[in-house]
Amino acid sequence: MESFAGGLLTAGRTLPMSSLSTEVDLIVDAVLLFCENGRDMRIKIANVGEPILRGEARPLTQEEISSQRIRDLIEHMRETLADAPGVGLAAPQVGEPLQLAIIEDKAEYHTKLSEAALTERERSSVPFHVLINPQIQLVSPPEVAFFEGCLSLPGFTGIVPRAHKVLVEAVDHLGQPVRIEATGWYARILQHEIDHLGGTLYVDRIWTRSFSSLENYDRHWKSKTTAELRRAFENGS
Ligand code: ZN
Repeated sequence: MESFAGGLLTAGRTLPMSSLSTEVDLIVDAVLLFCENGRDMRIKIANVGEPILRGEARPLTQEEISSQRIRDLIEHMRETLADAPGVGLAAPQVGEPLQLAIIEDKAEYHTKLSEAALTERERSSVPFHVLINPQIQLVSPPEVAFFEGCLSLPGFTGIVPRAHKVLVEAVDHLGQPVRIEATGWYARILQHEIDHLGGTLYVDRIWTRSFSSLENYDRHWKSKTTAELRRAFENGS
């Protein structure tokens, strides 16, 4: 979902990912890097170990949702997500312990995936949208296994079993109720981002023996079939 080919910018430095092939199998959240009114505004993404990533985000009030501060936050998060690029970003990752996340999975992120890979993942584009105070219900058991990543844990990846289908009830950026039934990759993104709002990271859910550096993922695991990965990691995880 993201290009590592040029490296990722975070707090003005380039992460040492330039040697990796473009990787589109992974969920990776955005780093913050944006300019406002010509002023450089760089906010470092919260990295694993930061307490804010392990806390419970608090709900937003209707008054807050319509406030300029939250509108600005959403806009900055959107710019950041597009810049990274990534498919989802949760407010705690940018230092705000709020139940707010944004999602956008653009078709252009899919060009490096084969049709077969897209089909296997049930992945198609998802327009930009905002989730506030979401409640998620897993409609099927968490047993669809693919590699995920997260920029709060840069340079690593692991296989996360996720529910194929979820039901999410939330409010949008206008405070209007939304009800989302999602399957496939979109359901995975929703689970990943909403996990962030409860202080859960993907490493809490991985098959632990699949945990891998991105370099070793490229070298050893990227080309394996799902059946091969299951044989390699599922038992003893
Ligand atoms: Zn994440």
